[in-house]
This record gives sequence, structure tokens and C-alpha cells, in this order.
Amino acid sequence: MLSLAIPLLVGVVVAVAATAAGPSACSNITSQLGSSKITTNELSLNYVGSTEYWNTLQDDYKPSCVVYPESAQDVSVVIQAVRAAGSRFAIKAGGHNPNTFYSSVDKGVLLDLSSMTAKFYDPDTTLATYEPGGVFGDVYEYFAKWNRTVVGARLAGVGTGLALGGGMSYLSPQYGMACDSFRELEIVLPDGQIVTASNETNTDLFFASRGGGGNAYGVVTKYTVQSRPIGEFWAGNLIYVFAQKDNVVEAIGNFIKYNTDPKAAIIGTYEKLPTPDLNLNLDEAIIMFLVYDGPDPGNAFKNFTDITALLDTTGIKTYNEVVNMPIPMSTEISAGNNMFRVGVHRAGNNSYENALDEWRNWAESNKGKYVLLSLDFQPVPKSLTDASRAQGGNAMEMPDGPWFWLNYLISTPPGMSQADYDAVQTSYRDMVKATGNAEGLPLFINDANHDQNPLQTFSAFDKLQEIKKKYDPDSFFADYTGGWSFA
Ligand SMILES: Cc1cc2nc3c(=O)[nH]c(=O)nc-3n(C[C@H](O)[C@H](O)[C@H](O)COP(=O)(O)OP(=O)(O)OC[C@H]3O[C@@H](n4cnc5c(N)ncnc54)[C@H](O)[C@@H]3O)c2cc1C
Repeated sequence: MLSLAIPLLVGVVVAVAATAAGPSACSNITSQLGSSKITTNELSLNYVGSTEYWNTLQDDYKPSCVVYPESAQDVSVVIQAVRAAGSRFAIKAGGHNPNTFYSSVDKGVLLDLSSMTAKFYDPDTTLATYEPGGVFGDVYEYFAKWNRTVVGARLAGVGTGLALGGGMSYLSPQYGMACDSFRELEIVLPDGQIVTASNETNTDLFFASRGGGGNAYGVVTKYTVQSRPIGEFWAGNLIYVFAQKDNVVEAIGNFIKYNTDPKAAIIGTYEKLPTPDLNLNLDEAIIMFLVYDGPDPGNAFKNFTDITALLDTTGIKTYNEVVNMPIPMSTEISAGNNMFRVGVHRAGNNSYENALDEWRNWAESNKGKYVLLSLDFQPVPKSLTDASRAQGGNAMEMPDGPWFWLNYLISTPPGMSQADYDAVQTSYRDMVKATGNAEGLPLFINDANHDQNPLQTFSAFDKLQEIKKKYDPDSFFADYTGGWSFA
């Protein structure tokens, strides 16, 4: 009897300790930072706003408090208080990562970076500095005053955590991934120390932070990056009916294989709805995003413009308009019960067609189990991998392009039972898995599902494990916040 009672008692004590740890960290933080930078009021506008996510399934979590640090020193105080209390925590920038507990937390401390929005442009060096709060749209708008921009999200509403997972931009074929433009980072380490990481200082930390994922090695409190010139764009969406699917996938394949103009970028998205959408009366469509850095794309997109489209919004646009391009009938930019998966493929061997067929078959036989599915082709051209390497490379150590990532989005209906939700996610996972991935290419962290363990596909995985051990030696981040597995 006693032998049973002791483990039970220990279990109860641990549970009580875990529940008490959040409030304990919160009151310590309040006493150090003052009450204006923290809220425990679940009904306050700040609290409600901070606990909204692109994957709305995370909106139900109730952190013990939400903290709004205004400086690296504040972040350091928060990290040390959380550590002292043994509380769970999460770091939130734009809240777009759909994986549970990556930027959300239940009964712990939510470190919301939204108050850290300072920006600075140095015309002499052309370096741009931005803090992690806010979304890329705000960052772009600020630097546009100098006709400059930074390499970041393709949609204005995505947060700066994107760059820590690599960061694919319309400018990436010219300048590499967002993280390739990093020149110096300010980071609060898991022990609360504030350090800089660059090619001169803490070079290993700098390497890992370029595409090796957020919430792993510390909290980035300042990004200094190489800015890029910005002017007029030729850009827009071409929308096709599904009857054009083979023509469009062939055009995508040819673009991936043969385009050599780094100013031309595309995303090819196939979209499925369970029932026809009221705007276009279609339950499936293909939406191409075509973006050219300059007013005249020449023949770069001829393969696409030659195919008869249902709708064409292409024309001259500002960068601000490019990153706010409307996506008719798609809820891809909307919050919902959204989850991502990723695949990686080499150009050739019918890899485009096979993936598309598998995905569409799944969509047809699982109607009613999603409110939106999309399959996005994201080319990684040689110009991108060359640009990455020319700037020192990143944690993905990207092999020469061309190859491409596929993003698989599934948005499930609200109110599904847990069992039904698990079943549909498992089935979608199995379909993606069966499509297979190319050997020797990294899975893209920003589009990956937690169970895909993308870091293990990086050739630098061993090195990243070492760096993780060095900067998070007692596994504080590994054990107390969500994130990619280093095991
Ligand atoms: C609609 C949509 C469009 C997208 N478009 C693109 C795109 O164009 N290109 C692309 O590459 N990806 C894109 N993504 C994927 C996106 O990059 C990832 O979802 C990314 O994680 C979002 O970053 P965030 O700051 O918005 O999210 P968050 O969930 O707040 O942060 C992402 C992760 O990084 C951590 N983190 C954030 N900031 C810090 C910090 N300062 N220090 C330490 N850790 C931190 C968080 O803890 C979390 O684990 C898109 C996603 C969506 C939903």
C-alpha cells in the first residue's frame, strides 16, 4: 500500500509544483519589471490578442501571464525568473508557427515580443536593424523610406521568427534565404546572458541561428541584416481551373529546372475546398504567385502567361502591394485549425506530378475532413543556393539547386472530436510520407510538422547538436518550451 502511495504522492507534488511554477515566475517578473509589462487578466484585450494564433487550436491555452519585454535586459529578467521557478514558457513573435507549444504555452509564461519594434537604417553601411516584435509588413514599410528592404516573408502578416527557420522570400533567388542576410544578432541565452553573435563573435551560435530554428539557442532580441534595394515590381496572381493542372505543373517543372533569372520568383499553389466557393463557384483551383523584381519580366513567366487563366491580377506593383497580394477563395492567410507538413524533391523523375496526384487523390477521398487543403511548390534555384553560400551558408548547408520544397497545408473543420482530428492528421501525414523525400536535401523548418524532425535532415545536424549542448547545457529550453527535437 505504502509503495503505491509514495509514487502517487510524488505525482501530486510534481503536478502542484508545475501549476504553481507559472504564477510564481509571473509574480517574480512583476516585482522586477513592474505591472505595466505583464498581464494575468485573461479577459484583457492584451491577453486575448497575445493568445491568438494562426493555428487557432492553440488559442485555448491559458498562460499564467503574458509578459511584454521592451529590451534585451527585460527578456533576460524574464528568462531568469522562469528558470528560477521551473515554469514552462513560450517565445512568441508573429504566432504563425502552427506546431503546438512552439510559441504557445498553457499555465506558464508567454513571452510576447510585440513591444520590441525598434528599427534603424544606416545609410553608410546599408545595414538594417530590427527588433523581433511586429510582422514583416511593418519592417518592410519602415525601410521602404530609403528604397530598401530586408529579405523576409512573402506575406506581410508573418512574424520575424520566420528568419530563424531560414525564411523564404520572393527575393531569395537573388539574395538567399532571410537568414543568409543576417550580419549580427543580439541574443539572450538560456542562462539570461545577453550576447552578440556574428561571423566574429560566438560564430557557432550565429551559424545555428541562421536557419536552425527559433526557441532553441536563446531569444533573439535584435537582428542586424544586409538590406536590399527595392523599386517597382511586376507581380500578381494567375488563377486557373483545375482542368489546367497538368499544363500548370509542367510549367512549374520547367520554371524550376530552366529559369535562370534570379529576379523571377514563383509559388505554385493547388487549392482544394470541400464545396464550391461562392466567389468563383469552384471547389478547386490553381493559384500562381508570379513576382519579378523590376517592371519588365521579359519571358521569365511566359510558360504561365501562355496558359489560359480564369483571373489575372498581374501588373506593376510596389513591394508593399506584392506582400499583400489578394488570394481569392483561399483562406491561406486566415487563422483556422491549420497545420503544415513539408516535402523536399529534386527537379525531375515526375516528382511534381506524383506529389500532386497523391495529394489530389487524398483530397478526393477525404472530403468533409478539411475546410481547405493546399499544396505549394516552392522552388529552390541554384541562384539561391549560390547566394547563400556566397554569404557563408546557413545551418541547412543547402546543396546546389534546383530542387523544391512542397508545403502541405490542411485546415480542419472546427468542432472535430479529438479522435477524428487525430485520424485525419495521421492519414494526411501518411500520404505525405508515402510521397517520399529526396535524399540529401533538408526539410524546411518553416513548413514542417513537429513529427517530421527536420533538423535530422540537415547535414550539419551533429554540429547543431553540439551547439545546442553548449548554449543550453542543462536543457532548460529543451525541457521547458516546445520546439524541434535535437535527439
Ligand atoms: C500564412 C503564412 C505564410 C507564410 N509565409 C512564409 C514565407 O513566405 N516564407 C517562409 O519562410 N515561411 C513562411 N511561413 C512559415 C513561417 O515562416 C513560420 O510559420 C514561422 O515560424 C513564423 O514565424 P512567426 O514569428 O510568425 O511565428 P512564431 O510562432 O511566433 O515563431 C516561430 C518560432 O520561432 C520562435 N521565435 C520567434 N521569435 C523568436 C526570437 N526572437 N527568438 C527565439 N525564438 C523565436 C518561436 O518560439 C516559435 O517556435 C508562413 C506561414 C504562414 C502561416
